[in-house]
Amino acid sequence: MSAVPSTLKTNKLIDKFGRQVTYVRISVTDRCDFRCVYCMSEEMEFLPREQVLTLEEITRLSQAFVEMGVTKIRITGGEPLVRKGVVGLLENIAKLDGLEELVITTNGSQLVKLAEPLKKAGVKRINISLDSLDTDKFKKVTRVGDLDVVLQGIQAAKKAGFEKIKLNAVILKNRNHDEVKDLVEYAMNEGLDISFIEEMPLGVIDSHSREEAYYSSDEIKQDIETQFELLPSTKNTGGPARYYNVNGYDNLVGFISPHSHNFCDTCNRVRVTASGLLLLCLGQEHSMDLMRVLRANPTDLDKVKQALIESMDIKPKGHDFDITEQPVIFRHMSVTGG
Ligand code: SAM
Ligand code: SF4
Repeated sequence: MSAVPSTLKTNKLIDKFGRQVTYVRISVTDRCDFRCVYCMSEEMEFLPREQVLTLEEITRLSQAFVEMGVTKIRITGGEPLVRKGVVGLLENIAKLDGLEELVITTNGSQLVKLAEPLKKAGVKRINISLDSLDTDKFKKVTRVGDLDVVLQGIQAAKKAGFEKIKLNAVILKNRNHDEVKDLVEYAMNEGLDISFIEEMPLGVIDSHSREEAYYSSDEIKQDIETQFELLPSTKNTGGPARYYNVNGYDNLVGFISPHSHNFCDTCNRVRVTASGLLLLCLGQEHSMDLMRVLRANPTDLDKVKQALIESMDIKPKGHDFDITEQPVIFRHMSVTGG
């Protein structure tokens, strides 16, 4: 048996600022069946297959992370449910000893078919994006999405019995900002949590000016409070979200505000792109090529773990988005793995 390098004995990913990484978001594809205006351009070029991590590589990488103290993995994309074999992948990741939470983020388009297999595979919680309850506006925001299919997908997810279902809505001024109360009402009546997300300047988009479309979490909260009473909740995920209980209901409303509220001090997460690039911060370019490490060491997981430890040295202290500069980060969210 080969000796374990001494740094591996700590079994933890701790950066220069003392923050421990316990949460990883992995993008399993950069492809998607929608073209949301804040996420993609109408015409997109996607990665050739050989530049995307294989399912086996994603499983090995997940194992390395979990053996280094990661307790939560989110599978995302692009649209994760359009990747062939994703259910089997989730099944394998769910079996990893030490993993407490396996969750996914989806646009909901495949849930009628896949909600139950996902639940059976071991996915505990699911986030579903829903930006509008109006058929035409939904089509305008997603360019190609069908609201009815997504609403049916939400019902299928409820029926499958996930521990928690959370809706995510990106709010853009003059596109869907007038719908925030309706979205809260829908979520509360369906027994779902809902988070509102400020648009982030990730990648070049061709549909609108991010500066003009900016609608702050404070504005969204004020709108909601004309109809619902929001009471601060103690829930904290270590990320940019603040949560509120809605008086009279069992579910939470969250606000994800990368612009207006600094959350970097408690950052506990990293991201892996579909091409295996480890991103140490959503709003910065610091990265490490894990595809190269995985492919150079197909049978040696310690080498992968060593690379993860080394990456902790380049995790930046924080970021500062500026929506007046377009774009700040050249990667789209579909590449970053939102
Ligand atoms: N396709 C899946 C979905 O839409 O849920 C998963 C991937 S998507 C990139 C993950 C989340 O990122 C979605 O909730 C989406 O609304 C959000 N998102 C995408 N681009 C964004 C941007 N520029 N700013 C803020 N949120 C964004
Ligand atoms: Fe696809 Fe999700 Fe991006 Fe919309 S937000 S284009 S559904 S990856």
